[in-house]
Amino acid sequence: MRELQYDAVVVGAGPAGSIAARTLAGKGVKTLVLDKRQEIGTPKRCAEAINGRGLRRVGLEPDPRWAVQKINGSVLYAPGGKALKLVFDDRLGYILERKIFEKYLAADAINLGAKYMVKTLATGVIKEDGRVVGVEADFMGEEYRIMSRLVIAADGVDSMIAKSAGLKTVNSLSDYHSGFQYEMAGLKIDGENLLHIFFGDDNAPKGYVWIFPKGNGVGNVGIGILGKLSAPGRKAQFYLDRFIESRPEIFSGASPIEVNSGGIPVGSAVECLVADGLMLVGDAAHQVNPIHGGGISMAMHAAKIAGEVGAKALSEGDVSRERLFEYDTLWRAGDGVKAQKLLKLRSFMEKLDSTDLDTLADILESDEITRIVEGDYGLMAKKIIRKAPSILPLAKKFLI
Ligand SMILES: Cc1cc2nc3c(=O)[nH]c(=O)nc-3n(C[C@H](O)[C@H](O)[C@H](O)COP(=O)(O)OP(=O)(O)OC[C@H]3O[C@@H](n4cnc5c(N)ncnc54)[C@H](O)[C@@H]3O)c2cc1C
Repeated sequence: MRELQYDAVVVGAGPAGSIAARTLAGKGVKTLVLDKRQEIGTPKRCAEAINGRGLRRVGLEPDPRWAVQKINGSVLYAPGGKALKLVFDDRLGYILERKIFEKYLAADAINLGAKYMVKTLATGVIKEDGRVVGVEADFMGEEYRIMSRLVIAADGVDSMIAKSAGLKTVNSLSDYHSGFQYEMAGLKIDGENLLHIFFGDDNAPKGYVWIFPKGNGVGNVGIGILGKLSAPGRKAQFYLDRFIESRPEIFSGASPIEVNSGGIPVGSAVECLVADGLMLVGDAAHQVNPIHGGGISMAMHAAKIAGEVGAKALSEGDVSRERLFEYDTLWRAGDGVKAQKLLKLRSFMEKLDSTDLDTLADILESDEITRIVEGDYGLMAKKIIRKAPSILPLAKKFLI
């Protein structure tokens, strides 16, 4: 057994882990990052979309090496086929090449002094008197005991670090989306600078199908459906394959060049983001936008806050739950509030059938949808009262 000593250990070198490490190392904290993957960024489990604000608020400027496709709007396709185009105006988005992006983030952290170990599986936390004081890990059969005053769990949706520390992180199945995706080449898609999103229970029960173009006919084609609806034989892949077969105009000349799948925590963030000596960030903390399942932006922003609070707590010599709770408070006052509000919209949308969705597509203008997704539920309610009273009881229950 090899013994190591660090001020902070970050488990997971996804976007959350590397931003936490960059923040800590940038403040002079002796930081180690562990990742079980042999190559950071690979395999990706992601459709790779992010908005520009999500990059800039953690101090990243879009770089053509990893921000491979500019996105300036989206097209929402209602079940009956009506297409609503939303223009992002000044809020440009990007499709990332995550395999490069994640390595870039790791290099940033390493340049500031962080150390990384890849192909290294964290097997559990080390506890003393109920406090987390380190991590046990395995690097290619060699066991490590890594003592650390602060542990950051950035180990994704199934966070074993949180579980091994005794935190409750599992939500009900209705709070998970089951995601399945092909990266495909040879797509014939009109508008490579737009996100294409298809609704309707035939396409994706209580979820949606996406085509996120990466340029040159390449794109991520995927589906997210409510986990509890993926009955045997009717899993996310079943619906996606059926969608692809039904649209030869897009897919007849296309082939997959990669396949990805994974769970997406679309419920509330975990009850408490900290414990003595421990902080949870990103998917490990279920910090995901409940409406579209996007988590990169929230994960990175939460990790930046956690890194800043963690560095201060270390310098004060106090990594108690009470001291680290500042991170919980700051996060909940920002993205946390937004996520809770969007959760209501998600609950409402999930109760709508395809006919209701077609009705909404008929009564709402594109700019109104943008305002609703930003939280203007009053506008939605007014439209429903005037033009779609049959949906009013549901709107009252979930939105008003
Ligand atoms: C199909 C699909 C499509 C998606 N599309 C989008 C999208 O378009 N836009 C968007 O914003 N979000 C998307 N998401 C969500 C997004 O991928 C996550 O929210 C984001 O990756 C969270 O980052 P993270 O760093 O918290 O976790 P992760 O990216 O999951 O990173 C966790 C890291 O921890 C490592 N790890 C796990 N356990 C251990 C262990 N025991 N020891 C050592 N290392 C460990 C893993 O190897 C991994 O590198 C999608 C998710 C799925 C499944």
